[in-house]
Amino acid sequence: METKILLGEKEIPTHWYNIVADMPNPPPPPLGPDGSPIGPDALTAIFPHALIEQEVSGDRWIAIPEEIREIYQLWRPSPLYRAHRLERDLGTPAKIYYKNESVSPAGSHKPNTAVAQAWYNKQEGITRLSTETGAGQWGSSLAMAGNMFGMEVRVYMVKVSYHQKPFRRSMMQTWGAEVFASPTNQTEAGRRVLKEHPNSSGSLGIAISEAVEEAASRKDTNYSLGSVLNHVLLHQTIIGLEAKKQFEKAGDYPDVILASCGGGSNFGGVAFPFFADKAAGKSVRLVAVEPTSCPTLTRGHYAHDFGDTAGLTPLMLQYTLGHDFVPPGIHAGGLRYHGDSVLVSQLCKEGLVEAVAVPQLGTFEAGAMFARAEGIIPAPETNHAIRTAIDEALQCKQTGEPKTIFFNLSGHGHFDMAAYDQYFDGELEDCDYPREDIEAALEHLPKVAVG
Ligand SMILES: *Cc1c(COP(=O)(O)O)cnc(C)c1O
Repeated sequence: METKILLGEKEIPTHWYNIVADMPNPPPPPLGPDGSPIGPDALTAIFPHALIEQEVSGDRWIAIPEEIREIYQLWRPSPLYRAHRLERDLGTPAKIYYKNESVSPAGSHKPNTAVAQAWYNKQEGITRLSTETGAGQWGSSLAMAGNMFGMEVRVYMVKVSYHQKPFRRSMMQTWGAEVFASPTNQTEAGRRVLKEHPNSSGSLGIAISEAVEEAASRKDTNYSLGSVLNHVLLHQTIIGLEAKKQFEKAGDYPDVILASCGGGSNFGGVAFPFFADKAAGKSVRLVAVEPTSCPTLTRGHYAHDFGDTAGLTPLMLQYTLGHDFVPPGIHAGGLRYHGDSVLVSQLCKEGLVEAVAVPQLGTFEAGAMFARAEGIIPAPETNHAIRTAIDEALQCKQTGEPKTIFFNLSGHGHFDMAAYDQYFDGELEDCDYPREDIEAALEHLPKVAVG
């Protein structure tokens, strides 16, 4: 039996899949500060036209430019693995598959959109990109992509990660990017936070405010976001599209697809192409997995909210914990975002995709078990998907069902070994997000008169 299901470079998909074409209801538009829908023009200060067009497109297929596919060839198509050894360790009748996105140069799925975003910006004469990064996966992906097109990249890195993950910072600098510990005193948004909280350890929301402010104030600079937006999820569908071809080769099809969910691009990337089959009547469960410490989809409010802390972004209808939410310092930095993609939120609200939350300790237990079975040491974010994949497989052991379980191995954990050390030393904790804080967030949501 095969372990790796591989595709040739000629089989890299030629188009991204836009789920909007198959959704029963159109996604709600972003709103301006006065509560009325904003047109695409309002975004031109920070995004190139081509990406804004993708953001609002209803076309099912969007062609991937040849130059982007050439760069994808450096690591794509990524392998689909059958986790024979994990299955054996679990003693499950289930079949477990995973797509290995950790083979990209930056070590996660994020370069799939970083390369695309850098290229489209370059086409429109932009020479500098600003962005935020939490744990560093996104910043390093954009640093690599920008460098490939000779662009300057400036990264606002959440301060706590800047100090916890020095080697992610070194990676960005190796690829030529400038990295700042956010909040900085270089932007209005950063200075405002520092005035109130001089020792602020930062948050993704704050770092986004800083990066957006910089992009909005300079003609040569645009802003790049690593998740959440429709065009980012679109670029990531390359993962699910390849996986569908690989399952066809394997003569199999998943019963359940699991992916960790921060802003939603990892989940959307692997799950959306299968949604097309689901919309056509096929039975397949699509499950987004989040931490109990940042339970956006499972316990958040479905409401209009900002994407950043300072309130510079348009308002988007999404599950949110409140834009001023500062999550507990769990190690899955990529999952510590207060909001979620509009598309994933809507599908969740409409019951077309599922969401579950899992506590930190169980995710590391699952990650260690996976590493010992399959060899690859997964990122803490990825461990969330692995936890639920193992739980599904153990359930199959009880029921005797030979289900086909598929998860996305979104990244490796080579820069997260300090977190594994803490886990093995018994220093990690489960931190649930308190109900009072979730209720309090409601008070801070922007008041929008819709309709
Ligand atoms: C960023 C990241 C995630 C979460 O991705 P989203 O698109 O924000 O949901 C998951 N796994 C890894 C390894 C990541 O770097």
